[in-house]
Amino acid sequence: MKNNDFNPADNIQDLQYFGEFGGVNPSISDSSTYTFLSAKTMFDTFEGNMEGCYLYSRHSSPSNLYLDQALAAMEGTEAANVSASGMGAITPTLLQLCGVGDHIVSSRTIYGGTYAFLKNFTPRLGIETTFVDITKLEVVEAAITPKTKVLYCETVSNPLLEVADIAGLSAVAKKHNLTLVVDNTFSPLSVSPARLGADVVIHSLTKYINGSSDTVGGVTCASREFINSLKNVNTGASMLLGPTMDSLRSASVMKNLRTLHIRMKQHSYNAQYLAERFERDGLKTVYPGLASHPSHQLYKNMINPEYGFGGMMTIDVGNLATANTLMELMQERNLGYLAVSLGFYKTLFSAPGTSTSSEIPLEEQTEMGLTDGLIRFSIGLDNDIERTYQSMKQCMRELNVL
Ligand SMILES: *Cc1c(COP(=O)(O)O)cnc(C)c1O
Repeated sequence: MKNNDFNPADNIQDLQYFGEFGGVNPSISDSSTYTFLSAKTMFDTFEGNMEGCYLYSRHSSPSNLYLDQALAAMEGTEAANVSASGMGAITPTLLQLCGVGDHIVSSRTIYGGTYAFLKNFTPRLGIETTFVDITKLEVVEAAITPKTKVLYCETVSNPLLEVADIAGLSAVAKKHNLTLVVDNTFSPLSVSPARLGADVVIHSLTKYINGSSDTVGGVTCASREFINSLKNVNTGASMLLGPTMDSLRSASVMKNLRTLHIRMKQHSYNAQYLAERFERDGLKTVYPGLASHPSHQLYKNMINPEYGFGGMMTIDVGNLATANTLMELMQERNLGYLAVSLGFYKTLFSAPGTSTSSEIPLEEQTEMGLTDGLIRFSIGLDNDIERTYQSMKQCMRELNVL
């Protein structure tokens, strides 16, 4: 399935911009509304018949379209639509695809907000979801009913770092005429889900893609037809629910996107370095780049190898009290921040059971293997990762974790 001629970072690099005044960055459009020289053009634009004309910035703005274009190029889809947050991409996408009486089959290990949306919110709209172990294709297929419209997963799941077999899921989706929606937030550049058969690819831009923890943002990448449907002035969930990204922000996200490939290589290098050493030291370490990871081979075959296995890893230190003390000590030693989120230049760590996955009931957490001594790391861009390793090891020794 993988196409070796496709390189997401080259696709971004190959875009060329000439700003309004010859600037190497496109000018930022800072208007909510747009003039028309003739009333007829305005009418045609509202009808969706005037490519290149703007009517109102909740629908599109020049700055957002530049970022849309770059992210569509990155994922190899025809089109994209940026939004004010990752949830602002996920929720309209699912509501565009499903209505009363429809059914979704979703991975059970997904971002806490998405889980809460599917478990608590969409039933109010008559949309039911069955949560499954996404790594078992036969279990996924068995959950499909005549009402199922969408198969939903994350490429690498939060926080357990399970890997979805996207090509396998795509075959199941095609067989049952479902739309395969993949949240690729943890693995930009490393994995190109649309190349593996995903119909819709979503990112929280908040994380790696923007990479500076200074904003929230999201994107839906898909066919031109689907993106147009999201933006349709009469029936589009993005247009009508209104999770629009601001133009000033999309211009700043785009500047950060240009260094994503350099950052991802360093995140992956550092995480691989630490994971190998922590595992050797006897810590329970989960990282897709370790041969001990249950999906290591699958993931190895899915990734664009130069970007590595990503910057996310977990260790299990036995219990929550130890996890909390260790995180506080690591923060005190300036090894990172005790904070949720990911993709920052500094390492971020949190205990998922009490933070990002706290929407998931305790008994379900246990069932899916989310133990309370688990610490999730988003490994930073540290220049000298051996120095970081030594300092982290010192913290662990002091708390008798090692
Ligand atoms: C953070 C995150 C989201 C939600 O994105 P926001 O930008 O916070 O709305 C969705 N999916 C995954 C995998 C995430 O990590």
